[in-house]
Amino acid sequence: MDNLLDTICARSTAPGRAGIALVRVSGPASFMILEKVFIPEKGEHPLAPRHATLGTILDLISGSELDQGLVTCFPSPNSYTGEDVAEISLHGSPVLVAALLEGLCCSGARLAEPGEFTLRGFLRGRMDLTQAEAVRDVINASTLFQAQVAARQRAGGLALRLGEVKRSLIDVIVQLESAVEFVEDDLPLESRETLAVRLAGIQGTLRTWLDSFRRGHVIHDGFSMAIIGRPNVGKSSLFNALLAQERSIVTEIPGTTRDLVSEVTNLDGIPVRLLDTAGIQKSSDPVEQLGVDRSYGAMADADAILLVVDISQGATPEDEHLRESLGELSCMVVMNKADLSCVWTPEQKAMYVGERPCVEVSAKTGFGIQELRSAIMKHLFGEPGLERDGVLVTNLRHHQCIQAAEKRLENAVVALRGGVSEEFALFDLNGVLKNLGAITGEVDVEDILQEIFSRFCIGK
Ligand code: GDP
Repeated sequence: MDNLLDTICARSTAPGRAGIALVRVSGPASFMILEKVFIPEKGEHPLAPRHATLGTILDLISGSELDQGLVTCFPSPNSYTGEDVAEISLHGSPVLVAALLEGLCCSGARLAEPGEFTLRGFLRGRMDLTQAEAVRDVINASTLFQAQVAARQRAGGLALRLGEVKRSLIDVIVQLESAVEFVEDDLPLESRETLAVRLAGIQGTLRTWLDSFRRGHVIHDGFSMAIIGRPNVGKSSLFNALLAQERSIVTEIPGTTRDLVSEVTNLDGIPVRLLDTAGIQKSSDPVEQLGVDRSYGAMADADAILLVVDISQGATPEDEHLRESLGELSCMVVMNKADLSCVWTPEQKAMYVGERPCVEVSAKTGFGIQELRSAIMKHLFGEPGLERDGVLVTNLRHHQCIQAAEKRLENAVVALRGGVSEEFALFDLNGVLKNLGAITGEVDVEDILQEIFSRFCIGK
C-alpha cells in the first residue's frame, strides 16, 4: 500500500455517468505518463503548474483520440500528496474513464488503493493523521454540521491544540530532566508542587477533551432513537411528524406497525435514526408478537427512547408496564394527542414521568414537535446544547489516546506529589507525549495506517 516509488491513478469523482469525471495521477512518473496520454492544444504547455490546459486525451490501446479534456499539474511538493500530481478532467462516461485508466496503467501507473492519495499526503508530511482522518469524515458526512466539524479538524484544529499541550509538557519534562541530570539533591518540594500543579492543569485540559467525546461521537456517528408505546398512542404519527414526511403507515386499527420502520432524520445537524416500533401489548397473534419482541430489542439497542402515551385516555396497565420495563434506559416521555382534552391529572402526569424529561405534543397538528426536537438535543447533550467551538473529540482512536495520556499524567502528578524520584514522573510524562503523538501520527502508527486508510474511498 505504501510503496512510494509507484505512480498511482484513480478516478476521484463518484462512479457512474456524470457531466465530468476527474482522474488523478500521483507519483514520480506522473508527468512522464501524462505526456503519453495527453496532447495539449497548440501553444499550450501541459506541465505549467496549477494551470488548466485544454487538449486531447488519447486512447493508448487503439492509438486514437479518446476525448477532449483539461489537465492540471501540481508539481511536488506543493500538491495534495506531496508528489507530482496530474488531474485529468474528461467527460463523465464510465467507458471513457475506464479506457483512460487502462491507458495510464499501460504507461506505468497502477490503480490506487482506497485512501492511498491521502496516505501519501500523510507519509510525505503534507498533513498529520488527524487531518487525514478528517478528510474521510468530510467525505462521509451526511449533514452539513458534521461536515463543518470535520472541516475544522481538517484545518488542523485538534493538531494545533495538541501542539500547545505538548509544548507545555516538554517544558515540564525539561525542568525535571535537568533536576535529574544536574542537581545533586532532589528537586525542592515547592518546585515539585509547582510542576505538579502545571501538570494537573494539562490534565484538566485533557479531561475537558475527553468529556467532549460524549457529544463528539454522537456528532460523528449520529444516534438511534426508538419510539415505543402501546398500540394507537400515536407512535407512527410522531415518527412521521419528526421526519416531517409520510413514511410510516398510520391507521386507527391497533397493531398496524408490525415490524420496525426506521428512517434517518436530521436533528440540529446530527443524523438520527428513528425507529418506529410495533405497539407493545400482549398478543395471541404470533406475527404481532414477533413485532413486539423486536420492539423490546430496539428499546435495548437504541441510544435513547421516546416513550409515547395518549393523554386523551387514562394510563393503562400496559403504559405502566412499559415505563417500568425501561429501568435505567435513557428515555423521554412524550404525552401525545395534546390537541384533545387531557384526562390525566397533573399528579398522574408527575407520577408517570418521574425524573424523566417530558414534552406534550400533538403529532396530528404539529404542536410541540419543535420543542420535542430541542428537548431531545438537550437530553442527549445537556446544557447549553452543542459545543460548536473549541476542541471536540469525535474520533474513538483520538479518545483512546487521550484517555491513555490522561491516565499516565495522573501517575506523574501522583509521583511528583508522593516524593518519589523524578525519574518515575519522567517515565510517565514521556509516555504521555507518545500517546499524544500517536494522535497526529508522529509515533507508533505503523500498525494502524492500514486500518485508517482502507476505510477511505478510492481516488482520495
Ligand atoms: P401507533 O399505533 O401508536 O403507531 O399510532 P398511530 O400513529 O397509528 O395513530 C393511531 C391513531 O391516533 C390514528 O388515528 C392517528 O390519526 C391518531 N393520532 C395520532 N396522533 C394524534 C394526535 O396527536 N392527535 C389526535 N387527535 N390523534 C392522533
